[in-house]
Amino acid sequence: MNIVIFGPPGAGKGTQSQFIVNKYDLHQLSTGDLLRKEIKDKTKLGNDISSILNSGNLVSNQIVSDLIEKYISNPIYKSRLIFDGYPRNLNQAKNLNSLLTKSDQKIDIVLKLSVSLKTIKKRISERKNLEKRADDNEAIAVKRYQMYEKNIDPIVGFYKETNLLKVVNGETSISKISGEISRLIEGIKG
Ligand code: AMP
Repeated sequence: MNIVIFGPPGAGKGTQSQFIVNKYDLHQLSTGDLLRKEIKDKTKLGNDISSILNSGNLVSNQIVSDLIEKYISNPIYKSRLIFDGYPRNLNQAKNLNSLLTKSDQKIDIVLKLSVSLKTIKKRISERKNLEKRADDNEAIAVKRYQMYEKNIDPIVGFYKETNLLKVVNGETSISKISGEISRLIEGIKG
């Protein structure tokens, strides 16, 4: 089973991905984490992209595609991936389909966590103290939220067409959201 989870920054994608990983023995593929690791390890790529991440903009489609392809093509992760933070635009959604098809895989369910900007601002300010991420401040959070909103409709349309999209209310408690996600996943497992 491969899962896509998306939602605005601070929606709880990371937390819920971890829950799904543990419950269904999947591997979380967070493009944000992969990119932050490049920066932390001071690789050439990391140096090239650090200012982009810090400003809340998106890095190029090619860079993220190369990063995720390594996992998609690795037999260890075959049909065991949860994509967190990818796709972020329609081109990426289409690219994900072709990368998966190439290695004889597909997406089984797409989970969209919906959360208001008001809640996001509150969560980001809490997370800033815990995780000390350079892009966690209110102005950048609003910018990232707006970018998410701008790009999300075509992606939603794309996954609706194939009946894969499930919308989850991300405003409730972590355990309620996990419960709802489990219910939806059990539903597709049949
Ligand atoms: P995240 O941890 O998912 O909030 O991502 C943090 C940052 O990494 C984003 O603001 C972007 O700069 C970059 N990033 C993560 N995923 C992608 C993606 N799929 N496409 C482009 N940039 C991305």
